Amino acid sequence: MNSITVITGGSRGIGAATARRLAHAGHDIAFGYRRDHAAAAAVLADIHAAGRRGVALPADTTDPDQVTALFDAAADLGDLTGLVNNAGVTSPIGPFVDLDPDHLRHVVDVNLIGYVLCAQQAARRMNAGAAIVNVSSAAATLGSPGEYIHYAAVKAATDTLTTGLAKELAPRGIRVNAVAPGVIRTDIHTSSGQPDRPDRAATRIPLGRAGEPDEIAGAIAWLLSPDASYTTGAVLRIAGGL
Ligand code: NAP
Repeated sequence: MNSITVITGGSRGIGAATARRLAHAGHDIAFGYRRDHAAAAAVLADIHAAGRRGVALPADTTDPDQVTALFDAAADLGDLTGLVNNAGVTSPIGPFVDLDPDHLRHVVDVNLIGYVLCAQQAARRMNAGAAIVNVSSAAATLGSPGEYIHYAAVKAATDTLTTGLAKELAPRGIRVNAVAPGVIRTDIHTSSGQPDRPDRAATRIPLGRAGEPDEIAGAIAWLLSPDASYTTGAVLRIAGGL
């Protein structure tokens, strides 16, 4: 069976590392992104260089029509076998009382509604043997006080989505798992106003450093692989001991 995998937010960070890793593992890939066309083109070139088929298209995961277009593009490659629900955002780091309602809504929109819309498309199109990986966060259990509690709460919802969907889709032979990264060195920290957060966080991480995107991509690749055939409903924490 060919591996045809959709990745949301595949242009940068964890999504880009996952696209590259999966291409080397033999997956054909359709990935979406929001606006960084140059970064998307670089990832697409690497997928092709690995000898796999790939398609990249701007697909805002908060928009049901754009989500459908992304899955339709994947269908042109073949039957869907994998989804990496990854596109996510934080908002400016700060105290809970200062949270702007627009930032709150955007975090819920991308990290929860977007994940549900994509999982729905996948669940409609997948057959036995397929798998979904939701990218959650260690924040779901840490709560992110003083940073972004609303983001942590939405990531906890991702874990619940994983639990419920794993049970609902198990009778059809479709597995659903999550990874819960700790502090990983990507641009997401620049977007939240603290580009040096991975280095500053290192002192409170038991392994003494932030993680790299490829250290998450490896776990995602395993969860999508036949080696994880008896793993469903799991939230795999990859957080350096946090
Ligand atoms: P990142 O480097 O900021 O990359 C985010 C990706 O998502 C980009 O490809 C971006 O596209 C895309 N994206 C953002 N909003 C989108 C939308 N509405 N529709 C479609 N694509 C969208 O982030 P990251 O650190 O790799 O994070 C990936 C996932 O890991 C997120 O779910 C995040 O919550 C989770 N996570 C990250 C960390 C960490 O420390 N980095 C820790 C725990 C969990 P453009 O390039 O076009 O903007």
